[in-house]
Amino acid sequence: MGGVPSGRVHNLINVAAYSVLAGGVLLASAQNVVAVSPTQAVYFSLAYAAGTFLLSPDLDLAEGHVNSKRYWGVLGFLWAPYGMIFSHRGISHTWVVGPLTRLAYLAIMVGIGVGLISLVFPGVRLPTFPQTLNVAELWPALWPLLLGYYLSQWLHLMADGVRPDHGMRHSMRKIRKRF
Ligand SMILES: [Zn+2]
Repeated sequence: MGGVPSGRVHNLINVAAYSVLAGGVLLASAQNVVAVSPTQAVYFSLAYAAGTFLLSPDLDLAEGHVNSKRYWGVLGFLWAPYGMIFSHRGISHTWVVGPLTRLAYLAIMVGIGVGLISLVFPGVRLPTFPQTLNVAELWPALWPLLLGYYLSQWLHLMADGVRPDHGMRHSMRKIRKRF
């Protein structure tokens, strides 16, 4: 026993860290040390919760039964290909690219879903993606989302004992093996 924390333990760690952080931010904003708008707090919290419960790095096990797949309910099977593509604790468990792989996978799934819906129900009007994205305009909403998501992911990796240079060492080992 021991070693890698289970999904339940990861959730507990993330919820505990969130409570401490939220308490700290509340205290700091009461003292006017930091200024966080209620909207930013909501964005951060939603992204943090999504990263903890719905987009956990352990979805790399989604070809089998894993806690983080369960939260998707009937849609859990959609993550099975992700589990097949990514080996457990490989690229999925790197600090920068790992969290991006799950966002990209999610975007592809949503794209396929939207495509299918408009194919089956041509009359349905689906919300469209804005034609122009102004990052400067989106930034006040974007940074709390990114911070919340990445923080939830990094806590998972820290609990797993994965170091920030995991990806690099992983690929260096591969390169060295080749020569
Ligand atoms: Zn893990």
